Amino acid sequence: MRIRYLPETLINQIAAGEVLERPAAAVKELIENAIDAGATTVEIDIKDGGKNQIIITDDGLGMNSDELVAALDRHATSKLPDDDLLNIKHLGFRGEALASIAAVSKINIDTHDAVSGESWRITCEAGKKSQPVPCGHPKGTRIAVSDLFYATPARLKFQKSARIEYSAIKDMVIRLALAYPDHSFRLISDSEQKLHLPSKQGHEARLSALLGRDFFNNSMHLDAEREGISLSGYASLPTFHRGSSTHQYLFVNGRAVKDKLLQGCIRAAYADVLARDRHPVVVLFLNCPPTEVDVNVHPAKAEVRFRDAQIVRGLIISSLKNAIHNTSFNTSSTVANDTLRSFRPENRFEFKHNPAGPSLPLSRGSTPAAPRQYAYGNLAEARVSPYQYNLDNNISPSARNEQQVFSNQEIQEDAFPLGSARAQIHENYIISQTDKGLVIVDQHAAHERLTYERFKAQIEENGIEKQGLLTPDIIALEDTDIHNLLAESEKLSRLGLEIEAFGAGAIAVQTVPAILGNRINIRALIQDIIDELRDQDATQSLELQINAILSRMACHGSVRSGRRMNADEMNALLRQMEKTPLSGQCNHGRPTYVELSLKDLERLFGRT
Ligand code: ADP
Ligand code: MG
Repeated sequence: MRIRYLPETLINQIAAGEVLERPAAAVKELIENAIDAGATTVEIDIKDGGKNQIIITDDGLGMNSDELVAALDRHATSKLPDDDLLNIKHLGFRGEALASIAAVSKINIDTHDAVSGESWRITCEAGKKSQPVPCGHPKGTRIAVSDLFYATPARLKFQKSARIEYSAIKDMVIRLALAYPDHSFRLISDSEQKLHLPSKQGHEARLSALLGRDFFNNSMHLDAEREGISLSGYASLPTFHRGSSTHQYLFVNGRAVKDKLLQGCIRAAYADVLARDRHPVVVLFLNCPPTEVDVNVHPAKAEVRFRDAQIVRGLIISSLKNAIHNTSFNTSSTVANDTLRSFRPENRFEFKHNPAGPSLPLSRGSTPAAPRQYAYGNLAEARVSPYQYNLDNNISPSARNEQQVFSNQEIQEDAFPLGSARAQIHENYIISQTDKGLVIVDQHAAHERLTYERFKAQIEENGIEKQGLLTPDIIALEDTDIHNLLAESEKLSRLGLEIEAFGAGAIAVQTVPAILGNRINIRALIQDIIDELRDQDATQSLELQINAILSRMACHGSVRSGRRMNADEMNALLRQMEKTPLSGQCNHGRPTYVELSLKDLERLFGRT
């Protein structure tokens, strides 16, 4: 076989494979070109998820006939006047997007050159260009791409459905629209207008328009700077999270990126307050001198490399963590709204009128619920025992006999943010009265968080206090699990858990963390730690790995649902929550309490 130089069309088709993964990539390149050309209004009109047609119209500066011919050639760009790859000031710089698109589709460009006042048209099919001809295009540039990938059957075959491609395009338009809030964008899909964003909208209004008012109301504002690198944007409260990270919008110098380093920073910052499979919603703008960042990493320009990644990491993680800590024990307002919604009449039992006695709830279906005995708590009298609630999870036997409903004369704690405990229901929910309304606390979730935070405080002070077991707990396990556990035995010992090999196929647990108390199920605890070690990502920092283990352990020491508490215990838990940072959500990002204001209650009863 002889080495030969590939024909230009083939070279462009190969390049297109990298630059254009899917129609959304073509849309991205064309919108970026419009922005680079000084446009302030961009219209995107697609058919069939962009597979059939993509038309991008802008009001930018346009091109003259020579530029129009060159624009379709590879490595032809107007954006690198100084040949300086270290000082990139435009979104484009590689000069290969139009050539790539033209190599695999049918493209038609109409453009009005703002300098000469002339308008020109050019067409190109599978890389074969026509001569430019004059036309009557009034302003800016209109690029129409049809039958994308028709010239590369292999890529054509791997295209997804029009619906999926449409949503990828919409996501791309949203990303660019977030980065350019002063530009107007309109997205039309199959002749239907899907998005219309006015110009000069400003960050806040653009964000609300695209991500919803809920996000805006439930997010923390970020604004930080370190050594010439600035970070701004919004990040959701830990209790406002999604099932995937697609709702993370990251921008570096106005460029929408999907960068692993940045995504990792977000994960690290929220690791403590979110389950691994939940993701915060964030919109982050990172700005730095162009010389600090290399955007020439991948043809699609979605990844970047920072000259000093450590500074960037530190800046993002510490800003996010600070913001999370500063929101203290807040949970998002959507939690209260969700609560309220579930109280609304449409979700309620239907009550059947029964003149002979109290009406009984009927289930939503047709069969009446079985009659129940209703017991009423003694609301008039309450005895508050001098029991001191302690977080070490030892239950006072007397607590079981305490009244679960308390009068309001003796309790003067309404003024506290989480109010004064008035009742415990179903042995898991504390109902508390605040001066503005009421709070319902999930005692298990709250206690789990407090235990976790105490673990972390102990680690920072003198290390985790251990409690020896009278007789070691022998636990039979599979060999690989034993191996994994023993490999980490030193780390686990620092966390209060001493384990040793015990013959073949078992381990002996000598100590457990004292905070967990003496009622824990050690086997379940060990099993959870095995799962955690298996899931752990070795590239994570030691702190993250340790915190993940602590979080698992905290779950075991927590007040299980089903445990009765007296007033003092409950109030002590509430006071503890107020003092503890991040106690508004459990270690998995679920809220530990919900709050209903008197206004919410009035709305429930139709009083307003
Ligand atoms: P790059 O954007 O990297 O320069 P492209 O292939 O995307 O490469 O575009 C090539 C050139 O075509 C650009 O440098 C620009 O001069 C010109 N161009 C492309 N799109 C437009 C447009 N919408 N308006 C004006 N000029 C454009
Ligand atoms: Mg470009």
